[in-house]
Amino acid sequence: MDFKIIAVDFDGTLCENKWPEIGEPNKELIAYLKERQAAGDKLVLWTCRVGEILKNAVAWSAEQGITFDAVNENLPEVLEWMGGDTRKIFANEYIDDRNFTFLSKADHAELLGRMVDVVEDWLEKKGMATNDEAAIKDDDYNYLAEGFAAGMGISCDRMEDDELLDKLCPNLDGPVPVSMTLPGDFDGDELV
Ligand SMILES: [Mg+2]
Repeated sequence: MDFKIIAVDFDGTLCENKWPEIGEPNKELIAYLKERQAAGDKLVLWTCRVGEILKNAVAWSAEQGITFDAVNENLPEVLEWMGGDTRKIFANEYIDDRNFTFLSKADHAELLGRMVDVVEDWLEKKGMATNDEAAIKDDDYNYLAEGFAAGMGISCDRMEDDELLDKLCPNLDGPVPVSMTLPGDFDGDELV
């Protein structure tokens, strides 16, 4: 398959959780999904809603500009690939307010490596040296947030919004202190 499949939950994810009603739209996520679909990826709605409230969710999503390629079922390409209908909907990405990602120490170290690369590129673009502590100070939250987001595989041009970061990285408490994201022996000062 030359596209990625994104399975996305509804309540608490595409919109604020007001089940069985529909809460405020998650505009950042909706924009992200539209972008991915425009690039050729497929969207599957993956929700516990059934019957009338499912129809409402699909209609509401259409109003937000999102038309799903499948609703609570596998794409035809997946059926063919798997040789049958799996009970778990297959996706390359699952976006759900109940997600929990377990990271091993090795995963954490890899993410950190990616985060450091992004931070260094960003500093270079801003014409700052990585050891220019004074210049970085005002922007430390933003560059760490952006680097962390990239390390987590989150597509985001700039992350300046605390609420957005909380939403995307719910295991973190507030701004991203380097020490919280790193394996024990890493010294945050290496970044600056
Ligand atoms: Mg949910």
